[in-house]
Amino acid sequence: MWRTSITGGTLRDPMASFNLVDPSLAERDPDIARLIKEEEVRETVKLRLIPSENYASRAVLEATGSVLTNKYSEGYAGKRYYEGQQIIDQVEELAVSRLKALFGAEHVNVQPYSGSPANLAVYLAFCNAGDTIMGLGLPSGGHLTHGSHVSITGRYFKAVGYNVSQSDQRIDFDEVRALAKEHRPKILWAGTTAYPRTLDFAKFREIADEVGAKLCADIAHISGLVAGGAHPSPIGIADVVTSTTHKTLRGPRGGIVMCKAEHAKDIDRAVFPGLQGGPHNHTTAGIAVAAKEASTPEFKQYAHNVVSNAKILAESLLGKGFSLVTGGTDNHLILIDLRSKNVTGKVAAKALDRAGIVGNYNSIPFDPRKPFDPSGFRIGTPSITSRGMGNEEMVRLAGWMDQVVSNASDDKLIEKVAAEVAEMCKSFPAPGIPV
Ligand SMILES: *Cc1c(COP(=O)(O)O)cnc(C)c1O
Repeated sequence: MWRTSITGGTLRDPMASFNLVDPSLAERDPDIARLIKEEEVRETVKLRLIPSENYASRAVLEATGSVLTNKYSEGYAGKRYYEGQQIIDQVEELAVSRLKALFGAEHVNVQPYSGSPANLAVYLAFCNAGDTIMGLGLPSGGHLTHGSHVSITGRYFKAVGYNVSQSDQRIDFDEVRALAKEHRPKILWAGTTAYPRTLDFAKFREIADEVGAKLCADIAHISGLVAGGAHPSPIGIADVVTSTTHKTLRGPRGGIVMCKAEHAKDIDRAVFPGLQGGPHNHTTAGIAVAAKEASTPEFKQYAHNVVSNAKILAESLLGKGFSLVTGGTDNHLILIDLRSKNVTGKVAAKALDRAGIVGNYNSIPFDPRKPFDPSGFRIGTPSITSRGMGNEEMVRLAGWMDQVVSNASDDKLIEKVAAEVAEMCKSFPAPGIPV
């Protein structure tokens, strides 16, 4: 149909009109356009509590959805394998210099495609296949890429997992030290994905030094809190620090590796050409914008609000009879042990989602249940804090969660809560989403 619309006649080369007519997404692909609209609505009318998620700003989204996606630029600024890098070099240099200033890092690589590839680059820089590495076990709140047996990192390396202690559910440094001395890992990971407490990077450093390991801090979840001064920084303590850029840092989906100058060459070579081809320049631009946003006083306030909201939410949940892993939180994340409510993680997660409260079911340390329907529910405050919600909203949220979890099969009640949630959300516009 569009083939004849511009000329009124027949074109000899159909591609000519494909190029001439450059319709909007809604015109070109109404199906995808509609689905994006529907996701915008979902992200507007629901309370998004998955702690790894956030809202990227309009500015970040604009940079990410730009023509920079068109350019190939294997290599690094000033040393590329393709011509035409006049603009891209400046984009990447801005991203790097802003992140160096934001975190106080000696060297930053902004090219990893996401958090997992950033971690793989660290392995490639420091290890050979078969070497021993150590990280927090998955059931204790560690990440897949820290040596889980289902991950390449558990298959290509001899992975030793340390755990939280059974008594207080916090990282058991006696066990970390004992295992490190026994197994002498090349890499010691300090990083978590479902752990509600502050990480003591200095303690990890001591142990890494005792056994000659590289200390690698993975701050994927907490990098925004670190940037905003709401969580201690591992920069200057760890040899290498990796992060995603899309969690509390509020950038586009991406990954970064920060390191001491002495490791810069090894890390850069591991990312390219070791692991990847061309960097995602549109993402690099989005990361540069996010780094600029994260260096403002407003972002600092945001990071502290994320933590204070989590603390208030945790206290309110305790007041409603919920049981929390470690008894509370120091960061953006809360891990609920649902056993005191006599409901499983999956049943609670599905009922809460229908009520407009979106989290994820999650194993708790020493969970007696299987990972596919565990005893825990994981929530966090990064997204709702990005919408400007505060104390009052956290208290209301805890009340709704109690009602839904205690009446998980009461459809009428769930509908009523969903309506109340959507009504409250109207007062808190979401960044990046047109009203
Ligand atoms: C999210 C996360 C990652 C992986 O990030 P992706 O971008 O999903 O690959 C790595 N480490 C930790 C601790 C994380 O929480």
